Amino acid sequence: MVPTVLVKKRRARPFWFGHPWVFSGAIEKVDGGAPGDGDVVRLADTDGKPIGYGFWNGRSQIRVRMMTREAEGPPDAALVRKRVQAALALRREVLRLPETTTAFRLIHAEGDGLPGLVADFLGGYVVVQVSSVGIAAHVETVLDVLTSALDPAGILERPTRVASEEGLERPFQVHRGSAPEGPVTIVENGVRYLCDLVHGQKTGFFTDQRENRRAAAPLARDRTVLDVFSSTGGFGLRMAREGARSVLLVDSSEHALDLAGKAAALNEVGDRVTLERNKAQNVLQRLIEEKHHFGVVVLDPPALVPKKKDTEKGLQRYAALNSAGLDLLEPGGLLVTCSCSQHVGESDFEDMLLEAAHRSEVQCQEIYRGGQGPDHPVLHPHFESRYLKCRVLRVV
Ligand code: SAH
Repeated sequence: MVPTVLVKKRRARPFWFGHPWVFSGAIEKVDGGAPGDGDVVRLADTDGKPIGYGFWNGRSQIRVRMMTREAEGPPDAALVRKRVQAALALRREVLRLPETTTAFRLIHAEGDGLPGLVADFLGGYVVVQVSSVGIAAHVETVLDVLTSALDPAGILERPTRVASEEGLERPFQVHRGSAPEGPVTIVENGVRYLCDLVHGQKTGFFTDQRENRRAAAPLARDRTVLDVFSSTGGFGLRMAREGARSVLLVDSSEHALDLAGKAAALNEVGDRVTLERNKAQNVLQRLIEEKHHFGVVVLDPPALVPKKKDTEKGLQRYAALNSAGLDLLEPGGLLVTCSCSQHVGESDFEDMLLEAAHRSEVQCQEIYRGGQGPDHPVLHPHFESRYLKCRVLRVV
């Protein structure tokens, strides 16, 4: 018999809709013995009516990560296999991503019914990240499905901060095949990028921005571009390819910029691309002092609100950053601005942009609104996994 976790009265509603996160504060008591970390538990409401099954973790604020509804039974290897196959089918048969890109997300954790598991396909390799103790026990099953479906040159695992917070030791590992010798070339909608799957940020490439790059890049034709927080050149290189007059890429990572510079040459736009390794704040301040103006400014910072308690402070930083971006636009210029902070909602983001425009004494017109690509799906009702926001604003 698996232990039963009873949720408090009036706290059960989200779980009837399939919400996967049971926080410690929602739990009334546990019947049938003390579960160990990673064990399967059954969730029930206070009347004892069973809701479904999930993985217990006593070390996490999210005590239970729900996996199945009552009718599906407890999660096992067959269920994990089925979920991974469904995730692959979405990318390959529904979204048909392999027709346009060699870089896309294969598994988006909760969004694909696999809490704590992320996998990206990057130029023939797969990079996984494991951050929950329950799914960690099923990694071999996941690797087997990925290997037989994709026959990758290698499957690597990159560590995450969340894993250690969950009490999991998940170091860098090469699970199958081998690690690439150097940077891997990926092609997204005709543009080549170089990614470092071993040392690069996250899994090596930001696949979540694909749709936003596609929407924003054609608007940069014949304009001068400043791409701040460029990383390996996601936005800027594509803009150069689509006819931007000049592109200045700014990032604090020397390694990311080195890859961007090499990829600029691969895309035959090296003559129009300049790199500057520096802190964004320093570059923006200097460019403003020097009275520079650009036709397009791209701002894609790391999450400035990493934790909910940082929301106020983080929004102030976003506002200062966006105001600086607006100050650097020529009349009629375009601001491409993003936030990947999950704790910043759409309306917080919009309020922040209003504040930034007010500080810069301009008014903006929204000409594009986007988010994470469809290979980063949101499984209702887990709207928390909707994290990326992107706007293209035109200064009127
Ligand atoms: N626009 C990129 C992704 C950006 S990720 C793409 O489309 O692929 C955020 C980037 O910000 C990282 O490359 C990181 O190195 C950089 N970064 C973080 N803090 C920074 C700072 N203070 N100044 C400049 N770059 C910074």
